Amino acid sequence: MRINIAIDGPSAAGKSTIAKKCAKLLGYSHLDTGAMYRCVAYKAKKEGIDWNDEEKLAEMIKNMKIDFDKNGNVYLDHEDVSQKIRTNDISMGASSVSRHLKVRECLVELQQQIAKSKGYILDGRDIGTVVLKDAELKIYLVASASARAERRIKEYIEKGIDFDRDEIIKDIERRDYQDMHREHSPLKKAEDAIEIDSSDLTIDEVVSKIKNELDRLGVVYD
Ligand code: C5P
Repeated sequence: MRINIAIDGPSAAGKSTIAKKCAKLLGYSHLDTGAMYRCVAYKAKKEGIDWNDEEKLAEMIKNMKIDFDKNGNVYLDHEDVSQKIRTNDISMGASSVSRHLKVRECLVELQQQIAKSKGYILDGRDIGTVVLKDAELKIYLVASASARAERRIKEYIEKGIDFDRDEIIKDIERRDYQDMHREHSPLKKAEDAIEIDSSDLTIDEVVSKIKNELDRLGVVYD
């Protein structure tokens, strides 16, 4: 039996890392929906479109192509933007463009189309509540703001990206607030989601908790 898995939670809670690990374990495909909102913000900036201009953004999305390869690299109109969409500026931009209903409608439809055939793990903010309401397994992954900031900082050091510690903490808090208080599809735990607090857990410990849930559902994996 192939199922769909929804992983939601605030920024830097480890959603993508966990989703990738689980996808490998199950032989499933992972779709990083945050990367799609990031592509919208990136392209808008490049084309001089205001992140608050819902109409122009919706028009722009109709003519943009987002692809992922099997290593998780992201291509926007055939250009590899995997690193370019990970800056603080584009993170905030993604949070801004994702407030608009028309932007969400376009991307949600695309995500639902992709996951139709089952065997997908989607991570984002509204997967369990909107995109895959009928996902067989829903995980709500949280972690304290300080644990998340430390992870982001570690990631920046590893990638050799310059950072300002206070800015990172402020951005995480600002983005959490924006994502949780917006009008359309705010970040919240789906009623039937299982909450995992990863603040004091290793990646493998989180995966092991998810394995328990997969066992409970009778899903077979290696
Ligand atoms: O997950 P990531 O941090 O890459 O997401 C970037 C931004 O995209 C989030 O802060 C959020 O505003 C938006 N997003 C969303 N719905 C999703 C995934 C991401 O609104 N399903």
